Amino acid sequence: MDTDAALAQALPAAVRARLLSARLSGAEARLVLDGEGLDAAARDALEHAARAGLAAQGLAAHIAVLGSKAPAALKTAPGATPAPPRIIAIASGKGGVGKSTLAANLAVALHRLGRRVGLVDADIYGPSAPRLMGNAAMRATAHDKRLIPVASAFGPAVLSMAHLVEPGKALAWRGPMAAGALGQLIAADWGTPETGGAELLIVDLPPGTGDVQLTMVQRHKPAGAVIVSTPQDLALIDAARAVQLFAQTGVPIIGLVENMAGYLCPHCGAVSDPFGSGGAEAMAREMGLDFLGRIPLTLAIRAASDAGTPPAAGDTPEAQGFARIAARLAAWLDAHNA
Ligand code: ADP
Repeated sequence: MDTDAALAQALPAAVRARLLSARLSGAEARLVLDGEGLDAAARDALEHAARAGLAAQGLAAHIAVLGSKAPAALKTAPGATPAPPRIIAIASGKGGVGKSTLAANLAVALHRLGRRVGLVDADIYGPSAPRLMGNAAMRATAHDKRLIPVASAFGPAVLSMAHLVEPGKALAWRGPMAAGALGQLIAADWGTPETGGAELLIVDLPPGTGDVQLTMVQRHKPAGAVIVSTPQDLALIDAARAVQLFAQTGVPIIGLVENMAGYLCPHCGAVSDPFGSGGAEAMAREMGLDFLGRIPLTLAIRAASDAGTPPAAGDTPEAQGFARIAARLAAWLDAHNA
């Protein structure tokens, strides 16, 4: 039996009956439980039983209870419409530079800074957030015609086309349908401040700077954008186009992030620069933009991403890199709070 299965077996039967996933990472257990149809008290009891079961095994617990929220918890004051979450767009001029990786890890790092964050995967044609956040097996539900985001074991709830349709199906969609689908993801029931709902949505835009991206930016009016590039010249030229796209639509650019900067060989410890180095920082300086930080190319980031455990959730140097960028982003948001 693997460790995750052993963890599941050791839980109380009532918890096991509602267990969607159990993952052991060191002395920390991450559980996702199905709370569908339970009221607030029953959910609390379920979470409490799970926590007690884990504490008995000497494990720290991170528990997410999924499903429609209890009606009482959803209620806001009559007539009060909660402010929609602020949107931060994560963009790149081209694919494969690590935009989705950055979006997911920034969401997790912001959550760890105490921000209430949701993650929207707007990359309709190549959704990857569910895989990165370890909740690809889950499906989104709906309530009062609004989607309910899918919880993750790492804090931020997530919505992606991959939570709605079979993998590959959205590929056949044309532009307007894709734009409509994105609207549904953003307008989902992200909750209210009283219920711990998202105040901030990190939106992973599709790569590129074409009409699809332009329409999305015009329609959803992000509060700001983060541009991701590798240090490579060609990627930087594409990143400059992304900068223009936001300038053209009047969306402030929070800054640039350089990803895959320097490769630290896990065997010999030598650092090499497969994509050059420092290019994005130099470009930021030339364009008068802030440089938010760099994330190295490491095997640990790729392996953790593939395994559905965002590196930002751990305590490695990689996690610190994401945390530093998240802190700058949080400071920008506070300074630009309309
Ligand atoms: P994009 O969203 O720009 O297309 P992804 O985030 O999907 O890019 O990343 C592309 C691939 O590169 C993925 O396999 C991902 O795990 C890997 N990757 C991204 N950033 C890093 C990094 N800093 N170090 C190692 N691998 C990375």
